[in-house]
Amino acid sequence: PPYSPAAERYERMQYRKVGVSGLRLPAISLGTWHNFGDDTPLMKQRELLRHAFDLGIIHFDLANGYGPPQGSTEKNVGRILAEDFAGLRKELLISTKAGYPFVPGPNGTGGTRKNILDSLDISLESLRLDYVDIFYSHRFDPETPIEETASALDEAVRSGRARYVGISSYSAARTQQMAQELRRLGTPLLIHQPSYSMLNRWIEQGSPSLLETTEQEGVGVIAFSALAQGLLTNKYLHGIPEGSRATQGKTLREGMLSEENLDRIRSLNAIAERRGQTLAQMALTWALRDPRITSLLIGASRTEQLDDVVASLEGPELTAAELEEIDQYAQD
Ligand code: NDP
Repeated sequence: PPYSPAAERYERMQYRKVGVSGLRLPAISLGTWHNFGDDTPLMKQRELLRHAFDLGIIHFDLANGYGPPQGSTEKNVGRILAEDFAGLRKELLISTKAGYPFVPGPNGTGGTRKNILDSLDISLESLRLDYVDIFYSHRFDPETPIEETASALDEAVRSGRARYVGISSYSAARTQQMAQELRRLGTPLLIHQPSYSMLNRWIEQGSPSLLETTEQEGVGVIAFSALAQGLLTNKYLHGIPEGSRATQGKTLREGMLSEENLDRIRSLNAIAERRGQTLAQMALTWALRDPRITSLLIGASRTEQLDDVVASLEGPELTAAELEEIDQYAQD
């Protein structure tokens, strides 16, 4: 049946301003790294995207190479956008990225003008879109001058192929350089996409830290893997369940399921239980405690997971005592 979105879709979600821009992102956004390749039935993908939108999750995050096979996620999501979301494009915020190996041959990777702009053209065709809302440099490329990558991002916006630009996983120092270069070109850097969770706090560390740099430059932050790929949920408390990411030989490596990590996760779960939250909910409440974090990019293999994570927005704020207790376990 055709999709008609829930009338109350804007009632529960929070929307946060992205750095100094007036643009607002949902506090929780949906990533498509897993569960949108050709290995997942299209019907299920459709259900996840529709359910997310009904919950006010208006931002879907992609990248050129997501799959498997590489590139299939943009084609699948593109088809669903065309079939289900045709009249809703202007409510949606779609992002994609370039920078990791994608096109065969010596020039199909990195931050060159050729790779960045060619990749964007391929993404737009797969997504069946005229523009994306946010276009990212997926990684800093040490072999390409940052000025060249910046000029490609600037051109993506000037040519109408992207509304805004972002960078992912750049260090604090590279972020500052990129922000300055883009400002000089007249296309402000909108957002940074780093990893961040209770088990991975690099963006708080160093001097200046990434969070200090983004704040100083007026850049927003959308954190990925805030659930540590599912570790910060009730999923692995009692072993490894069938069908979970850890059983699929994918990106959740066994080392992450060490006894030491599992002990910390059980302790964190006990704190969450006392608060009347699931561990996933507390992990998100925790990551959103800092107003410099604009949004959290989560993944989901089932619609119930989306309901669970969105309910975190209605949970109690963390007290100073709880934050201190969490710090004992929330370490890299
Ligand atoms: P998460 O840390 O949110 O992990 C998602 C997984 O956690 C789900 O697939 C599911 O696992 C499990 N999960 C989610 N909600 C619940 C719940 N309520 N209860 C129990 N389990 C739950 O994020 P990802 O690692 O998937 O990353 C999110 C997005 O971030 C990506 O899709 C991508 O868009 C972006 N990203 C960007 C990168 C970059 O380089 N810029 C790198 C990595 C990610 P299961 O499938 O086992 O059910």
